[in-house]
Amino acid sequence: MKHYDYLIVGAGLFGSVFAHEATARGKRCLVIDRRPHTGGNIYCEQIAGINVHKYGAHIFHTSDRRVWEYVNRFVEFNNYVNSPVARYKDELYNLPFNMNTFHELWNDVFTPAQAKAKIESQRAAEAVGEPKNLEEQALSLAGRDVYEKLIKGYTEKQWGRSCTELPAFIIRRLPFRFTFDNNYFNDRWQGIPIGGYNPLTEKLLEGSDVLTDTDYFAFREKYPDVADKTLFTGMIDEYFRFSLGHLQYRTVRFETEVLDTDNYQGNAVVNYTERSVPYTRIIEHKHFEFGKQEKTVISREYPEEWNASLEPYYPVNDKTNDALYARYRALAEREKGVIFGGRLGSYRYYDMDKVIAAALALADSELN
Ligand code: UDP
Repeated sequence: MKHYDYLIVGAGLFGSVFAHEATARGKRCLVIDRRPHTGGNIYCEQIAGINVHKYGAHIFHTSDRRVWEYVNRFVEFNNYVNSPVARYKDELYNLPFNMNTFHELWNDVFTPAQAKAKIESQRAAEAVGEPKNLEEQALSLAGRDVYEKLIKGYTEKQWGRSCTELPAFIIRRLPFRFTFDNNYFNDRWQGIPIGGYNPLTEKLLEGSDVLTDTDYFAFREKYPDVADKTLFTGMIDEYFRFSLGHLQYRTVRFETEVLDTDNYQGNAVVNYTERSVPYTRIIEHKHFEFGKQEKTVISREYPEEWNASLEPYYPVNDKTNDALYARYRALAEREKGVIFGGRLGSYRYYDMDKVIAAALALADSELN
């Protein structure tokens, strides 16, 4: 085994960006991942000629010029704009919450002033002060109707917790606007890499040595001196053998099907906001790339609580978990020669652009 400057644990976006930056500055990097492929959760699998987002839909969006220019050095982006629709019982709504949604909810609402008046009257009925949890945040932003039909069921399915126990910031991710604009994101730039996400990871990892199907904990036993430094992007609590207890994660189970039709739902994303439908959304992957294939591939998403046999997706950033994370963070700071980063290493509900920005910031501080 060669000797490296960096052992990078996890070939996801954070690890790949850091590997690229380190390699570009003359460092030798070994990237290992326990999965059989690189890319982490942005990995795409080709099924019926369609790039299937195997670990959940990833739509790239950013307002950070540095990040946008950075990713465009490796791949070209198409002009996909995310405009999900929500199905609630036998009703269909445009998302995010905008004038189309308000007219669909209240057919006597045609103008922004009417929508605001309607929401204001509902908000007054709730009399919530400074929102202390997701339910209060949603009610104070949008009123009872939006909350009951479009937020409550979806959120409780996704997080497996009541909206009164969830932090308000989760819902602040969603745009709420009084224009007829169905673009889900407020960001300046958005799209899907042409050809899917794999070419992005592959280009980032050029020049690094890569080992897949490689578990860090076993590898470390065998090659304790393989590198001067380690960048660990896995679960920070697992690194410390869960010595302070388990951080909680949500995971998603996907039921993926190939269907003998060219267009199943007419949109990449349809959310099912009703509590009694067990999945949260159906993704029809071809629409991310305007696919013209004869068949289609759909994935139903079933959120679940994480256990050790599953992939962790979403850190649950509530008070208890954030406090436990702070204690792991203190251990991490004392760990010599090891840097922690990425969504799992820093226990944050991060979008892809934030992951890249954080990896570039680490490269700036670590490598200059
Ligand atoms: N959300 C909702 N209704 C929807 C879509 C989203 O209430 O139809 C809320 C829900 O609380 C969710 C959050 O908005 O956890 C973020 O949703 P998003 O689709 O951005 O999540 P991601 O794509 O990261 O899974």
